[in-house]
Amino acid sequence: MKIRVGLGFDVHRLVEGRELWLGGIRIEHSLGLLGHSDADVLIHALCDALLGAANMRDIGYHFPDTAGEYKNIDSKILLRETMALIRDKGFQVANADITVCAERPKLNPHVPAMKKCLAEVMGVDEEDISIKATTTEKLGFTGREEGISAYAVVLLQK
Ligand code: MG
Repeated sequence: MKIRVGLGFDVHRLVEGRELWLGGIRIEHSLGLLGHSDADVLIHALCDALLGAANMRDIGYHFPDTAGEYKNIDSKILLRETMALIRDKGFQVANADITVCAERPKLNPHVPAMKKCLAEVMGVDEEDISIKATTTEKLGFTGREEGISAYAVVLLQK
């Protein structure tokens, strides 16, 4: 059996007048993430980890933000397409572990719904998707609520 690890990282800016989408679900908040797509920073980090583990470049390479077809796109579609790319290469997901850094809103109550959503989109067991939420103790851009960042680590096997 061949196993491959991948790391993903992403940041999006928090602004007024946008919906907040994280982990494939909409979360009630006064600010939302700015981006060409729905700016779901958690899914983008996860896609980059998946692509990295398969040595298939990054999310911007496959889904360029200059392409009109991806304007305001639901990031779950990008995740589904990313899964198809890695499955085409013969890989399966062993597990994924994700950390989201946000001062507000509190994300822990939403973690079960995010896990369920991601597992469905990816066609994997919920047990194989871990999502963790942390603040950065009011430090840095996440602490000042200027943005949200996410890290993802994925193990693939074939
Ligand atoms: Mg992004």
